[in-house]
Amino acid sequence: MKTVVCPYCGFGCKLLIDPETLRVKPYRGEPNRGKLCPKGLHSVEIVNAKDRLKRPLKRAGSSMVPVGWGEAMDEIAGKLLEIRELYGPDAVAFLASSKVSNEENYLLQKIARLFGTNNIDNCARLCHEASVHALKLTLGTGAQTNPYEDIERFKSVLIWGYNPAETHPVVMDYIRRARKGGARVIVVDVRETTTMAFADYKLIIKPGTDIALANAIVHVIIEEELYDEEFIRSRTVGFSEVRMAVRKYTPEYAERVTGVPAETIVEVARALALAGSGAVMWGMGLTQHVSGVENVLAVIDIALLLGYIGEKGGLYPMRGQNNVQGAAYMGALSEFLPGYVPLTDEKFRKRVASLWGVEDLPTERGLYLTELWDAIEGGDLKALYIVGENPAVSEADFMKVRKSLRKLDLLVVQDIFPTRTARYAHYLLPASAFCEKEGSYMNSERRIQWSERVCEPVGDSKPDWEILTMLGRALGLPGFNYTSVEEVTAEYFRLFPELEEKSVEKLKNSDGIFLPKKRLHTWEFATPDGKARFMAVEMITPWEAPDEDYPLVLTTVRLIGHYNTGEMTLRSPSLVRLMGEPRALINEEDAEKLGIKSGDWVEIETRRGRIRMRAEIGNVPQRLIVVPFHFKANRLTSPALNKAGTPEFKFAAARVRKL
Ligand code: SF4
Repeated sequence: MKTVVCPYCGFGCKLLIDPETLRVKPYRGEPNRGKLCPKGLHSVEIVNAKDRLKRPLKRAGSSMVPVGWGEAMDEIAGKLLEIRELYGPDAVAFLASSKVSNEENYLLQKIARLFGTNNIDNCARLCHEASVHALKLTLGTGAQTNPYEDIERFKSVLIWGYNPAETHPVVMDYIRRARKGGARVIVVDVRETTTMAFADYKLIIKPGTDIALANAIVHVIIEEELYDEEFIRSRTVGFSEVRMAVRKYTPEYAERVTGVPAETIVEVARALALAGSGAVMWGMGLTQHVSGVENVLAVIDIALLLGYIGEKGGLYPMRGQNNVQGAAYMGALSEFLPGYVPLTDEKFRKRVASLWGVEDLPTERGLYLTELWDAIEGGDLKALYIVGENPAVSEADFMKVRKSLRKLDLLVVQDIFPTRTARYAHYLLPASAFCEKEGSYMNSERRIQWSERVCEPVGDSKPDWEILTMLGRALGLPGFNYTSVEEVTAEYFRLFPELEEKSVEKLKNSDGIFLPKKRLHTWEFATPDGKARFMAVEMITPWEAPDEDYPLVLTTVRLIGHYNTGEMTLRSPSLVRLMGEPRALINEEDAEKLGIKSGDWVEIETRRGRIRMRAEIGNVPQRLIVVPFHFKANRLTSPALNKAGTPEFKFAAARVRKL
């Protein structure tokens, strides 16, 4: 049996795959302990999908024609160098992938920076970049603080804007065990979620009012003096500013804003404080708002107030894709070098440059993924090299993105399938699927795990690291002589003091290695003075308020058997069968007013476009329409960005009509 990291969510289950039969069984060790969800169980079905890309293709008029690898790489490199000569290095951008390995993300950001630009980003920008910004600001490190195993021993679990029963089903086992051990489970969301079946408190809030609720919980804890005075005094700064800021957020005020009864807010604040320890877990329900960074700051304030950091608690921004944490850690972000080190850190930057055989690296922040489209429209960006991402569907307001993609002088798409984005490509490069290559991945708890190769790549496809090595060489960049993926692993190990002494062999023979360590901030924070920062935040209203024309609020959600833009799961016959037809959930009274019954076809429209879907009368509040993300929902979503560059996928003014 071969041990392979699941290609789907950021929980990071390991699969045992039989190379002969390709049958999948769950790995018994950490982190999944013998459990898998349907996505992991059926993951190998995509490997032999009929339309796998099997050879490089290049555009010839309206069609794509086969081309050899050597010719393709020479032509792509030639065009990239020509564009750099004419317009400078920032006229080129590279889009890394949260689905490819650490080594592959490391190589792509290395190519971008050696090419001369920080225009390197990945889809962490679309999900948890607000968490990274908030955590860095308050604690000094932009990542999950504790391992999953800690959840089981904490006496409270606060789950906010996050539905793990659908998005990370295996983590539910940890939450269930915590509850069995006496933990109080509190779930905050805009609708009744499947996770709420395991909750002691279900708090259904009006969309976009998270800060009012978090501030009210902080208000009660302070008013009733339930906070951890010693922790606040010795390990934090900014408490008095927060105390002042939350004065007006009484439970009664918060009830009017959020819809959560004042007495429930008081009960929850007390339950959290009296628990004595706690996990605070959140998802994109918190981050994908114009107030995303502030939402996370407000929730972090609750944890700081109670001292729920280190041994007594943990902050869990639960990552979406299997290597989104690794992509970010490897430096595939336009404002950070590897390890979330700012571009302005001259000492580290020069150390990286010297490892790569050059004197220095570019220091200006590059474009965020969500800024690429305006840069193309404005004529500043001429070429885009995409590895394993599908922005023609994954970006908010994707019709605008599709229009921009058509204007590029050069678009290279490196993927396993002909995605929707591939339709605009000048070159289409076939990559190997997850079990056709080896390499390392980092899950949400920052555990680096080795994934083995089970079978040979189909056709003439190649692992992404091999393609990127060819690209680096064709561009004439120094050091692109890798002959094995382990050489790349060993190179990125040298960037991190915690990994310097470790060998790739040790990683292969372990249940993973935590970077920088298993539990962060036990004794001190990674801020200049070693203290955590309370941050006072005020409510920020959503970008697009409902009005007479668009009276509903549209929000997007994930389903257990589907994943992102559906390019993978919609090619898995078992998952398609299991999940059936997608449905938009609508409140009973709204449906009655609109003459809609469960099963009717409806048209859902926002100011950016419309989609058709069957409706289902669901347990959702009035004036809310809940649409699964995986079926072109981004034709509708709002492109308004928060401070971290994440669009407001979770809130758009919408209307619905029966067809
Ligand atoms: Fe894969 Fe996530 Fe499911 Fe585990 S919980 S099998 S990592 S999709």
